Amino acid sequence: MDRVVARCLQVASRCGAPQPFLDSLSGNAGELGAEWERRRASGYWEILEGRLEKTEDGTFVTCKDVRAGEPILFEAAVAAASAGPDACAALARQCRASPTVLEKVLQLPRARFTGETGELEAALACNARECSREPGFVALFLACSGIPHSCCPNAIIDSTQTHAVLRALDDMAAGTQVSVSYVSVSLNRQARQSQLGQGFSCKCARCVSEESTDPQFAVACSSCKEPSFSIVREEQKQRCACGAKFLVAEALRHVQEARKANAFMAQAESARGDAVKKAMALEMRLRTATTSANPAPPRHPQILQLANNVANCYFYAAQTPGSNQAACWAGFWTYKHQFMEGLEANHGETKQRDVHYILSLRRMLSARFSNAEDREKCQKKFQHLCWIHFGEPDVPQSLRDLRR
Ligand SMILES: [Zn+2]
Ligand SMILES: [Zn+2]
Repeated sequence: MDRVVARCLQVASRCGAPQPFLDSLSGNAGELGAEWERRRASGYWEILEGRLEKTEDGTFVTCKDVRAGEPILFEAAVAAASAGPDACAALARQCRASPTVLEKVLQLPRARFTGETGELEAALACNARECSREPGFVALFLACSGIPHSCCPNAIIDSTQTHAVLRALDDMAAGTQVSVSYVSVSLNRQARQSQLGQGFSCKCARCVSEESTDPQFAVACSSCKEPSFSIVREEQKQRCACGAKFLVAEALRHVQEARKANAFMAQAESARGDAVKKAMALEMRLRTATTSANPAPPRHPQILQLANNVANCYFYAAQTPGSNQAACWAGFWTYKHQFMEGLEANHGETKQRDVHYILSLRRMLSARFSNAEDREKCQKKFQHLCWIHFGEPDVPQSLRDLRR
């Protein structure tokens, strides 16, 4: 418990804010532990620096100008568990242990998933979220559960199994409603909607704008460059206003080929063999998929993943004795940029980035840059993202240790 208290205090003091909380936790480590546990068990949360106001419906609105990266709320978890099939039962046990907590949990919104066995299970399914600093674990936060979802959120819940800090992703004027994303923000509209559950239809500005054409499935017309085609539209043969045609089946076949190549690269045996040859073979497949007459959508997740695989093969090829280093690094940068730019675009207009995007940026920094200016740009972007997502200049150790 003392270790937990120490960590909470560390986080709290880094927020530079919850002074009443810190002041009240005086005494030795044992007393601190008991006091912290008492507060944690009843669902302790605190608005930082008076930056927010809780509204009657349980949501939060900024009550002064807030800058990107500023911590705006601190909260202790009322329950946490390993993610997976037993998570719900474990969280339910912890909630039932405290009548106060149980009562509050049952008041949380729970319409997103239908078909849960009981009220408590439904509330947990809707509100327990994966810990951003500890993937593989879920935690339940009472106050943060009241924050509405947006696929283009202005805040992020920076969480562990014991506590969370709500951080502003963007500058917000006073009076702005705070939103967070319940799902990964780089997903396409279809995937976001399916993860959000049947009882919830997202009507955020991003979802509305992507309703007719999801950018991850769109293909530009080869003649007039307008984004006229989509692989998810009903018509199999599409015609652009300029007269050019598009065959969906062929574009889907390119996506399928990319998926196969990516599945192969995900296997352990793909590490064997000549990295240069592999890179060139994958590069050829990517080129065919994106430059043929009926190409795959350039922002499709499988196409971006393929570009990333090409880049990574060139990265390893560059370390191979006897390889043409300059050519390998050039290949690495070409395809890494293609991957990162596509992935960045797939996040929509939010300043939030998925962890794997931030980790990719971190990995890029370990590569050889052709000029110092590019490196500095990459470093700056990485540090900025770390500040707004974690309140520190690097990703937390728990994410650095992830096996990728
Ligand atoms: Zn949405
Ligand atoms: Zn056209």
